[in-house]
Amino acid sequence: MKFNIYLFDLDGTLLHLGNIRTYVDQILEETFDILEASNPPEKNEKYRLWSPEEDFFDVLEEWGIKHPQNFWKVFDELDFKWRKILIEKNQIFLYKDVYNTLEKIFKHKEYKLAIVSNAAYYIVDFILDNFKITQYFHETFSLGYYEKDQEFAKPSPKGILTILNKFKFDPRESKAIFIGDSKLDIVAAKKANINACLIRREIGPRNKHYKEWDIQPDFVIEGLNDLFYL
Ligand SMILES: [Mg+2]
Repeated sequence: MKFNIYLFDLDGTLLHLGNIRTYVDQILEETFDILEASNPPEKNEKYRLWSPEEDFFDVLEEWGIKHPQNFWKVFDELDFKWRKILIEKNQIFLYKDVYNTLEKIFKHKEYKLAIVSNAAYYIVDFILDNFKITQYFHETFSLGYYEKDQEFAKPSPKGILTILNKFKFDPRESKAIFIGDSKLDIVAAKKANINACLIRREIGPRNKHYKEWDIQPDFVIEGLNDLFYL
């Protein structure tokens, strides 16, 4: 193991959410209904919400959403509701390799572990607590405070940099790696100037053509065990 700081994305990396795109799409639809969007986006327009090039409020206004400031709050509450239901049904669960991997890293007392997620803090806390992995993470970075969420969400490197700062990261002394399952994760990690590792647990539309991304991961793995052979 060459690394001593391990940062993890949560959804799709540690947590199996099924088809994440379908899951998020359903919550978005429900959010648009609740906020009475008069001109909701077509299926392939929704990505604009996460696009750093677009102004979030302009996009929501274009879709006819009356109270855009409530958007993520409504979205997060629905996300939380659905996670609890799907955990109960065993459709959301931790991937099998998670406990062993975290345990293996954590037992090195000088190593640091953290979560950097775009999900709301109370959802991240609930997931870590529910699956009993809270104790493995020295820090977590999550959203849901709404003031500066857009600014801090991946692909921005700010979440990763906040954690590295807390760890007093010095690249001359430490090696940090961020492990995530999406393009947003890879971009955030490379902007933060640390190693980016793409985890492809299944090959799907979100990662199939990763070789065409402008910003490339340093490592590509299929499961967390591969981390120990990098
Ligand atoms: Mg993810």
